[in-house]
Amino acid sequence: MKKFLILILLIFIPFRSGDAKEISPEEMYKQRMDLYKKTEVVSGVPWYFIAAIDQYERSIRHVRKDLPKPDGLTGFYMDATHWSGPLNPDKGDHNPLTIDFFSGKGRDGNGDGKASRTDDEDLLYTAASLISLYGVNDTSVRIALWNYYKRDKTVSAIMANAKIYRTFNRINLDEKAFPIPKEYNYTYHNTWGDRRGWGGRRMHEGTDIFASYGTPVRAVRHGVVELKGWNKYGGWRVGIRDLHNTYHYYAHLNGFAKDLKIGDVVKAGQVIGSVGSSGYGPPGTSGKFPPHLHFGMYKDNGINEWAFDPYPHLKAWERAEKT
Ligand SMILES: [Zn+2]
Repeated sequence: MKKFLILILLIFIPFRSGDAKEISPEEMYKQRMDLYKKTEVVSGVPWYFIAAIDQYERSIRHVRKDLPKPDGLTGFYMDATHWSGPLNPDKGDHNPLTIDFFSGKGRDGNGDGKASRTDDEDLLYTAASLISLYGVNDTSVRIALWNYYKRDKTVSAIMANAKIYRTFNRINLDEKAFPIPKEYNYTYHNTWGDRRGWGGRRMHEGTDIFASYGTPVRAVRHGVVELKGWNKYGGWRVGIRDLHNTYHYYAHLNGFAKDLKIGDVVKAGQVIGSVGSSGYGPPGTSGKFPPHLHFGMYKDNGINEWAFDPYPHLKAWERAEKT
């Protein structure tokens, strides 16, 4: 019973402290999309770039201890110094004129004469203004993002979000899939942290799903293909980043889905390759171990990236598909 209660709490806490207060996810997405579209109108910045920044900020706030947890519709966060201006003596400044005078970035998006760090429209308009100074094609957006974040990984993650939103033309993209279709035979157990034999002492950062050669491997979430090719450990492998700034790593593949290339947007459930035993040597090495999919998950918090155990997620996705 106690375990059951803890499970319930674990399910509800991230949601409660997260993106919505007492509204359904559909309603939350609708309200959020309305805000993005409204900000597009006043700023001239396409909604998917605004949504992309907002979602990136939300995702890092969920895993950063030095940032407040997102509690409103908007995920975008800016500290008081950036907002009010580095030399502004009033860190809580709301006045767009003095903020501008001190080169602060805070803007008044809803026209109430105040630039408020807690107002959704002001926040999103401020996010859009980071971009609008430079222009709204992909290259100028990249430059704008780099000038603000000064980190390539962050720029790529935001551009990936924008590409996903633009492709699907919606923001409710919570679909999930187990990597192996349920009609196929497979086995797996929790191999997180096991020692591995090849390539020195390395911790096993993932879950191995054993299946026959050629079994389809599917993307688990909507995302953008960030990496594809050979690695001496992983063999033929694919890396896909999702909207939560989680990187999904699929290794030891037999081959890739036809036409799959870096930069492609993939859907949850889309076949990206097939199970094999490639790896542990120069390109093309295969058969040094039984065929399996090595599946890894990595989280980025805007400063660094780390592996976490995918096993509980795999179990949840598998369960969801069997019911
Ligand atoms: Zn593995």
